[in-house]
Amino acid sequence: MKNIFILFIFFTLPAYCQFSTYFENHTLRMDYIHSGNSTDEFYAFKQFKKEKYWGGSHKNLLETFEYGKYFVKVFDFDSGDMIYSRGYGSLFHEWSNTPEAKKFNKAFEESVTFPFPKKKIIIKLYSRNKEMKFEEKFFIEFDPSKTPYLKKNDFECPVIDIVKSGSPDKKVDIVVLSEGYTEKELGKFIKDCQELVKKLFTYSPYDKYKDYFNVKAVWASSIESGSDNPLKDIEVNTVLNTSFNTLYSDRYCMTLSYHKVRDIAANAPYDQIYILVNTEKYGGGAIYNYYSVSAGGNLQSPKVFIHEFGHAFAGLADEYAYEDSFENMYVKGVEPWEPNITTLVDFDHKWKNMINNGIPIPTPSTSEYNDVVGAFEGAGYLLKGVYRPKQDCLMRSFAGDEFCPVCKKAIEDMIRFYSE
Ligand SMILES: [Zn+2]
Repeated sequence: MKNIFILFIFFTLPAYCQFSTYFENHTLRMDYIHSGNSTDEFYAFKQFKKEKYWGGSHKNLLETFEYGKYFVKVFDFDSGDMIYSRGYGSLFHEWSNTPEAKKFNKAFEESVTFPFPKKKIIIKLYSRNKEMKFEEKFFIEFDPSKTPYLKKNDFECPVIDIVKSGSPDKKVDIVVLSEGYTEKELGKFIKDCQELVKKLFTYSPYDKYKDYFNVKAVWASSIESGSDNPLKDIEVNTVLNTSFNTLYSDRYCMTLSYHKVRDIAANAPYDQIYILVNTEKYGGGAIYNYYSVSAGGNLQSPKVFIHEFGHAFAGLADEYAYEDSFENMYVKGVEPWEPNITTLVDFDHKWKNMINNGIPIPTPSTSEYNDVVGAFEGAGYLLKGVYRPKQDCLMRSFAGDEFCPVCKKAIEDMIRFYSE
């Protein structure tokens, strides 16, 4: 009986994965097309690519946060052990919540990356349903000795160190990609990059963790300056094809050329991709483990830079609310996955333990509770039914110029995850 018990424990323990047993210190990227509409989604494989570097941790290969609308899991073919997992988001998900998605199908480029396997693996992709439960949507096998894959990067670019702290597997590695900077504007790109990164490390909690980061600028020049601005009928020829008015929101500046973004990022080891756009127009955007975008040249730029990175790096939700919002973004009666908003459905797993005794939940938005952690109604684009941790936070507005304690903790947890 004892032996059976020991066997049972052994087989139900999560696989402890030794990096060098399963992986080389390179990246395997799977490019695919994610398409669909407001109710259906489809995955279509495009290609495998071997990238020169792997920027991630060698220790934390399985993601424990369970953040993100989507999830990738990699299994060793022989043993069936899960050897890598990661959550992520994409523009397809945001588009699928727009009125347009009720009328027609649309296709988006997506990629997942993980360390390059030494042996045959199975890759599975998951998507959350309306109840926030992951459903398996796609699977494919990859055998490094048999499956065809691309080995060459057609977009080799110079890389410039902005912050250098140590080995990529023990640091958070950010690559900053130039967008809309012409050949003559390399100096401006490096200066914009240095200024924004310097500013990032003046904000808490990043100020305590500068030594946990490597930041590299990847230089790819554009034929023309700036970014597309459809509302002003401006269309420019830029390397990453960014555009304002993405999903019909003027300040939302994103790109649909995701595979090219990945190709250019692959010139350095990275955990996070940041696209710096050479424009004075206010705007940007970011999605968890997808990419961040911000404009380099206006007075609000440092705050946009830091706010957007909160989404892409730590999975933080927007804490502001609109009257008219994406109608399906957060569903009533279901706890969202983001660490800094709650519907109070599963508040125990959010920041309930950070609230002092005597603070009412929900917490009234009155001056008495200005500086405390509570649960204030209005967050995640919805005025009702979604709650945020503090009256103000950098994920809500730029007035207070500070992250709330819940966002700070989420950022610190993620820094440690990447740097162990
Ligand atoms: Zn916050």
